[in-house]
Amino acid sequence: MADGGTFSGFHGATGSGAPEMPPLGRPPAPPRTDDPASQEPRLSDPLPFQPRSGEPVLDQVAGAPAAEPVLGPTGRPLPDLPEPRPLTTHGNARVIAMCNQKGGVGKTTTTINLGAALAEYGRKVLLVDFDPQGSLSVGLGLYPHEMELTVYNLLMQRDVTLEEVVVPSGVEGMDLLPSNIDLSAAEVQLVHEVAREQTLGRVLRPALADYDVVLIDCQPSLGLLTVNALTAAHGVIVPLECEYFALRGVALLKNTIDKVTERLNPGLEIDGVLGTMFDGRTLHGREVMERLVQAWGDQVFHTVIRRTVKFSDSTVAGEPITSYATASNGAEAYRQLAREVLARCLDG
Ligand code: ADP
Ligand code: MG
Repeated sequence: MADGGTFSGFHGATGSGAPEMPPLGRPPAPPRTDDPASQEPRLSDPLPFQPRSGEPVLDQVAGAPAAEPVLGPTGRPLPDLPEPRPLTTHGNARVIAMCNQKGGVGKTTTTINLGAALAEYGRKVLLVDFDPQGSLSVGLGLYPHEMELTVYNLLMQRDVTLEEVVVPSGVEGMDLLPSNIDLSAAEVQLVHEVAREQTLGRVLRPALADYDVVLIDCQPSLGLLTVNALTAAHGVIVPLECEYFALRGVALLKNTIDKVTERLNPGLEIDGVLGTMFDGRTLHGREVMERLVQAWGDQVFHTVIRRTVKFSDSTVAGEPITSYATASNGAEAYRQLAREVLARCLDG
């Protein structure tokens, strides 16, 4: 079973023939292009959504010159997302798991860039790389073979503390608990532990007093590592690629979230569903978005992340898009997502 069943084992580069991740040398980063003239549509571009007949979209004063309803990319009116208030103290972190058992949907990209945008707004952020592929660590410029201690050591060795494993991410206000392929062994070893589902929650607890938000980048499976992340979390963000098949498997994910809520973590909430790799120019993209909103209603974030190559470029550069291409639409989109997340579940 490739995408799937609970505790279904490993995914990714764990086979003996699998190439080591990542390549030893980092290829030269593509040139920085902060050129706003690059032809991506602006976030605020109205999309060619038509309100269904009879459905009022915005209150309009009768007789007033018809103000064009500004519909966001999800087909709903965009709310006002205020500049977040600055914080004077930190702590009492909200733990958010980035979760979808499908690979390549933007979990790691969202973890890095939402984290960096929240850090720009003055929040203290801890990222947890909870995927043995270590893409989050690599995406922040770390080399897997240079890591001395990783989340694996934190989970499996009682004498290893969080302070020993945490490293700076290169972004001010944002730290990282890195991982590499060692973490794949934890999934096997944890099976024999007492309270195996609570292990990540236990080791993260000391961090909650120091950070405002902890983002866990999950692996693409619903195995024991992901169950640990859901058990440690207060909320889940589900990134979904705006593609036709994106909704397949979502029922299984929802089922896992429900089971964890029922049996292990009664307070777990779905903080939001994020449409990624959106192309509003195609009918197909807009139809998928419409179905997403039909299926998940207001749980769908108003912010959507459009498809752009800048994300791959910034991964090669080993930094978030918010610093790599700071004026790009992709960076702005993640800042908007940060404001939406703050308004929804952090500052509320
Ligand atoms: P996951 O962690 O869910 O497997 P990633 O965040 O690693 O997914 O994204 C998969 C690939 O898609 C990466 O190469 C990433 O650079 C690229 N990517 C992510 N978001 C976007 C986007 N909005 N537009 C274009 N490419 C993207
Ligand atoms: Mg990933």
